[in-house]
Amino acid sequence: MPETEIQELIGTAIGQLAYSYAPYSGFRVGAALLAQNGRVYTGCNIENAAYGPSNCAERTAFFKAVSEGVRQFRAICVVGGPEGRLDAYTPPCGVCRQVMMEFCQPEEFEIILATGIKDYKVYTLKELLPQGFGPGNLSKESEENGPGNIEIC
Ligand SMILES: [Zn+2]
Repeated sequence: MPETEIQELIGTAIGQLAYSYAPYSGFRVGAALLAQNGRVYTGCNIENAAYGPSNCAERTAFFKAVSEGVRQFRAICVVGGPEGRLDAYTPPCGVCRQVMMEFCQPEEFEIILATGIKDYKVYTLKELLPQGFGPGNLSKESEENGPGNIEIC
């Protein structure tokens, strides 16, 4: 992905920190999800007094997109930290990686972790979720191709 596009996504993700609802952990997270159609879907973490119903920024962004009929994605940027301070990278939790596995090509989908516009690292989903279990594992084709060879996106 071109650097300018990456930096734009980082800026959008940072902007989402303002909407983060994290009264319990104080850990604010923002995400910006770039779809194949060029649109960007935003997300923030949304905590809950009962803890369990809390939702991550990444999944908020994915569910917004999927609920509007969008299922093909290129990249997501995630930023976060205590009270929104971006001191370190905030990698997606295991649940969010699994949701990405449902809709994204592991070798191609890019996950951008950033602490600022000029400080970021780019990973593929496959790097963050090796041998992930996805839709391909449930299709007949997967018996021939083995895990990870997913045609659906
Ligand atoms: Zn998560």
